[in-house]
Amino acid sequence: MTTEATRTSTPYALRHAEVLDTRRITPGTVRVTLGGPDLVDLPHAAPDGYLKLFFPRLRGEVPTLPEVPADGDIGRWYRTYLAMPDAERPPMRTYTLRRRRDHPGGVEIDVDLVLHGDGPGSTWARDAAAGDRVAFTGPYGLYGPRAEHDSVLLVGDETAVPAMGAIVESLPTGTRAEVVAAVSSGAEVTSFTTAGEVGVSWVHGGPTLLEVVTQTDLPGERPYVWLAGEAGTVRELRRHLVRERGVDRKDIQFCGYWRRGKSEDQAAAEAMAASGATGEDD
Ligand SMILES: Cc1cc2nc3c(=O)[nH]c(=O)nc-3n(C[C@H](O)[C@H](O)[C@H](O)COP(=O)(O)OP(=O)(O)OC[C@H]3O[C@@H](n4cnc5c(N)ncnc54)[C@H](O)[C@@H]3O)c2cc1C
Repeated sequence: MTTEATRTSTPYALRHAEVLDTRRITPGTVRVTLGGPDLVDLPHAAPDGYLKLFFPRLRGEVPTLPEVPADGDIGRWYRTYLAMPDAERPPMRTYTLRRRRDHPGGVEIDVDLVLHGDGPGSTWARDAAAGDRVAFTGPYGLYGPRAEHDSVLLVGDETAVPAMGAIVESLPTGTRAEVVAAVSSGAEVTSFTTAGEVGVSWVHGGPTLLEVVTQTDLPGERPYVWLAGEAGTVRELRRHLVRERGVDRKDIQFCGYWRRGKSEDQAAAEAMAASGATGEDD
């Protein structure tokens, strides 16, 4: 278990959490509310802040993870985690911290998990119930518009809807933003509350995300662009925006949230093997 000695107010601390509540917010997405004493000093991150969630191998159990070293070196801890036998290692998957609620007695967070197959994340989410246990590190955020940006363009698929929702809800009053979100059906469409001036296009059952983006006006002269979703689609979107729409690469934050046909472990292992061997690909 996490101890006071290792649980510091840093995204790199390993925290244990209990499921307080679960509900289907759409037919294909489960919202899980997590809480517990380890969340008391949870740091704040950028609105797209994500967690590395560790699921127990047996439902209801606490994930069996190595002790964090007394010096809190999470890098060393992670290598020990990776060295665990496959049959014993609790699976880890990445999910956005959709919303947090700070109460006098502690912190609760919501995580929205898309159901899409039989990977450990989806499988856990499908049957998640109050009292279940997970562990996590994070949040780590990437979203970071700068003063020179006059607007925001957010493009992503269902897995990016939690992050896009959190970003839209964080926009300062009057900020111009355009959201293009691909979902599997009209039943997956949700709504966002915002102080910004935000247009949202939901894409389903017709043209692709890329096709819709090619027809979408940029929301300003110099937008900050945030792209997330299936890795191949994100690459195409980025290429289109750089080559055909004249967006500066430096103005684009992009992240492949998943890769078709690859589990998160396989995709991460391949990315690590390829790192250093490839350059910019746009
Ligand atoms: C920074 C970041 C934030 C993320 N935030 C969220 C979030 O808030 N909510 C969320 O649901 N996901 C989010 N994701 C994506 C999520 O981590 C992946 O979808 C992950 O693969 C799910 O794990 P799994 O165990 O269900 O499937 P895995 O075991 O990883 O994969 C099993 C199979 O399912 C396929 N697959 C994975 N995701 C999808 C999908 N969405 N649709 C269709 N097939 C898929 C894989 O290609 C593979 O073939 C985020 C990812 C990142 C990197």
